[in-house]
Amino acid sequence: MTAPDPRMRWWGWGVDRDATSLPDRARDMLRQAFAIEDDGTPPVAFEDVRLPAPALSDGVRERLVEIVGADALRDDRLARVAHTLGKSYPDLVRIRSGDAASAPDAVVYPASHEEVAAVLELCSAERVTVTPFGGGSSVVGGVEPRRDGFAAAITLDLARMDGLIAADPVSLTATLEPGCSGPRVEELLGAEGLTLGHFPQSWEYATLGGFVATRSAGRASTGYGRIDELVLGLRLASPAGTIDLPPLPASAAGPDVRGLIVGSEGALGVITSATLSVRPKPAVKLNEGWVIDSWQAGCEALRAMEQARDAADVCRLSDETETALNAAASGHEAPGPCLMVVGWEGEPDRVEGRAARTRRHLEEAGARPLGEEAGSRAGQNYYAGPYLRDELLGMGVMVETLETATTWARLQELYAGVGDALRGALSARGTDPLVMCHISHLYPSGASLYFSFFARQERGAELEQWRAAKTAACDAIVAHGGTITHHHAVGHDHAPWMGQEVGEAGLEALRAVKGRLDPAGIMNPGTLLP
Ligand SMILES: Cc1cc2nc3c(=O)[nH]c(=O)nc-3n(C[C@H](O)[C@H](O)[C@H](O)COP(=O)(O)OP(=O)(O)OC[C@H]3O[C@@H](n4cnc5c(N)ncnc54)[C@H](O)[C@@H]3O)c2cc1C
Repeated sequence: MTAPDPRMRWWGWGVDRDATSLPDRARDMLRQAFAIEDDGTPPVAFEDVRLPAPALSDGVRERLVEIVGADALRDDRLARVAHTLGKSYPDLVRIRSGDAASAPDAVVYPASHEEVAAVLELCSAERVTVTPFGGGSSVVGGVEPRRDGFAAAITLDLARMDGLIAADPVSLTATLEPGCSGPRVEELLGAEGLTLGHFPQSWEYATLGGFVATRSAGRASTGYGRIDELVLGLRLASPAGTIDLPPLPASAAGPDVRGLIVGSEGALGVITSATLSVRPKPAVKLNEGWVIDSWQAGCEALRAMEQARDAADVCRLSDETETALNAAASGHEAPGPCLMVVGWEGEPDRVEGRAARTRRHLEEAGARPLGEEAGSRAGQNYYAGPYLRDELLGMGVMVETLETATTWARLQELYAGVGDALRGALSARGTDPLVMCHISHLYPSGASLYFSFFARQERGAELEQWRAAKTAACDAIVAHGGTITHHHAVGHDHAPWMGQEVGEAGLEALRAVKGRLDPAGIMNPGTLLP
């Protein structure tokens, strides 16, 4: 197989075929809310994207070709532009405006662990930076190449490494290559009667290697566990050599080296395979909508069910603003103050028993059932959201998300603190934003908070506007006891707050590990560590 074409549109999410639009009512509501009068700005024409001349020397290019083959190195305009940035709001603002200044000099598509290892050895010797690239759906600046002080920058796209290496139906484990997209993972496991049960909103394009490298969480992770809870074994190619960790159900062999690699965001090396805990494909998937009178009451209901170990696999609570806006976006009336979606997966008997226990908690908290249709509707719209974001950008609306988590005891403080910070920072720049939030991941000790915010774009100062909101929110997260990221990872954007999360000595320990595995510092510079 030769190097494939980019999977997503170079300027936005997904492919044209699947793009969806906001209903007129929702567009009008947003235009009115933000006093938007003009028609907005489409992305620049592809030929107008500004791309630097490639800096890779002929010698290094030739040796890369010797390793992967001529067909597996691309330095054409489309490949370079499509691998310049991820899919965060500032990434989209930049690429839509034609800014591809940080494009890689070449995109290399290895087909095996050995090829990856050879590429890293060469690039380390030649001081060429390497950015691993799965689906490119990073929302924290994780796939933007940096070349300051280096000879050149390449991106390593893992699309050709997308096979099932082994499935073990006795132990319920599967070993997969990193370039498998979410649907490919389910296709390969489905043929064995298995599922990974990992469905982040970026599932259609994000990859297994990306999930593991960012510690992602999916829609049903309350039930199945986050990806970091599912990884049992790993193989990492680093510039200094290979680390092979066999799949083990548990171990007391010192500190967890597996845990160092999971979430390493390409800064230590390339994950070339992972063995994961999988489950039998569920016979039944049941989703229900519920409505509750306030955000606080909903949070209490979730805490009670989680701490009693009665939570559903999918547990989501939207605050009042998110409930109203989502209803408008899907062309429906809001069902009440706060929408809850709960979902269970598995064998019919077990699903029924678990659902009865979850429902009891909801009823005790005063929630009212809306039925299965309301639950499945929320699921159907799940993968359409990113397309609507592209449409909003085209209308001149700033739309960004951020996420955190904290203990139940501080959850309301964090919710209020981040909301106030976002409203304060954006209002101070002259536009009152809409800020909304949901909970989607529960733990006995706490929960995640996922904020979305919308404002009129400051034309010509879009990135400054974003930076002001993002900085205020991150400072508030730290001040109110939250993690700087619950599942989006660190990338470039959260690196300045890493010291506050892990402490200076923690940062030094991570730097020491990086220095040992990547002595030339070529692996995804600027990511993870400030
Ligand atoms: C619309 C949208 C919705 C999203 N929804 C969710 C969600 O529900 N849950 C969630 O957790 N995240 C979500 N994300 C964030 C993102 O999709 C996840 O971080 C995802 O895990 C990234 O996977 P990817 O394959 O696209 O990785 P990429 O974006 O390609 O890479 C992400 C990071 O991992 C590194 N990397 C990739 N592959 C490897 C590898 N094999 N070895 C070493 N490093 C590697 C990259 O260098 C980079 O630092 C969303 C993003 C978008 C745009």
